[in-house]
Amino acid sequence: MIIDFNKVKYSYEDLVADAKALAKQYKSILQCVTIGKSHDNRDIVMLKLGRGLKYILFTAGVHGRETINPIVLMKIAEFYAKQFEDYQGLGEKYDKRLARPSTMIEEQYDYMIFGKCVYELLETYTILMIPLLNPDGYMISLYGIKSLKDLDLRERIKKKGHNYSQWKYNGRGVDINRNFPCNSWKPKNSKDYAASENETKTLIQIFHHYRIRGFLDFHSRGKCIYYHRKSMTEAYNEKQLQIAKRLKDITKYQLVDPKHEIDYGDSGGNTVHYFSEHFYKPAITIETVDEEAGFPLDYKYRTSTYEELKLILFEIAGLFL
Ligand SMILES: [Zn+2]
Repeated sequence: MIIDFNKVKYSYEDLVADAKALAKQYKSILQCVTIGKSHDNRDIVMLKLGRGLKYILFTAGVHGRETINPIVLMKIAEFYAKQFEDYQGLGEKYDKRLARPSTMIEEQYDYMIFGKCVYELLETYTILMIPLLNPDGYMISLYGIKSLKDLDLRERIKKKGHNYSQWKYNGRGVDINRNFPCNSWKPKNSKDYAASENETKTLIQIFHHYRIRGFLDFHSRGKCIYYHRKSMTEAYNEKQLQIAKRLKDITKYQLVDPKHEIDYGDSGGNTVHYFSEHFYKPAITIETVDEEAGFPLDYKYRTSTYEELKLILFEIAGLFL
């Protein structure tokens, strides 16, 4: 086991080291690539889980303080990579064992069926996982302003005067999820422009590089699912609703009422809106963790969130038909 939920503080460096360790351990099915750089010069990494030509994208860590989902996505990647390799390596042995029934027969059979399904899934699909799109913001929320190496950035952030455990922005104080050039985007000041940030540009490049069939962006808090898009057609929203209902069944999270899609006065510019409008494919925001949880988020949320999200990937083929 590489991803350890018991390590209370999980830094950006831990995440990158783990991503590389996963790629080394599960080389037949998992790759780790660098897709961009943050403003404080941190690598933005992506895991490619699977060997298929159908692409699905998961992102987390768009907001700095939402520190649970990055490690949870890493753990999910490890779980499926292990299932894949176990099945690949032990398939024949299981067959032999099943030919000689034991008291464990049912368990063994379930395990083999699950393994086979995961195997087929990852032969057909590749799950692109960006577990931490905004590494600078993540580090600021966990370790404060001293985590910024660039002194100009430090000065800039200091002026904002902030409780850093609440920090949702990137290393330049910009909210990445209000920086995407979509219909709802509005400038927040005279110097503001869409896609101004490295993290935004990196994700836009990934959107355009792969033919992605579905996109899930994981945030915190609220245990709820945002699916409705006022800027899109009825047919598009009907499909979004079907997917959201299935996600609700899996996670037990609530669907957000379409009228709360965007709060009054919100400046817009979300990842999912950009993706919907440019590619006409499903894009959904999933909010993990209890609404009333305080920041910094308790690391104990990792295990429950992992259990809530784990089977989404297993159902991916049915979700994004
Ligand atoms: Zn968020």
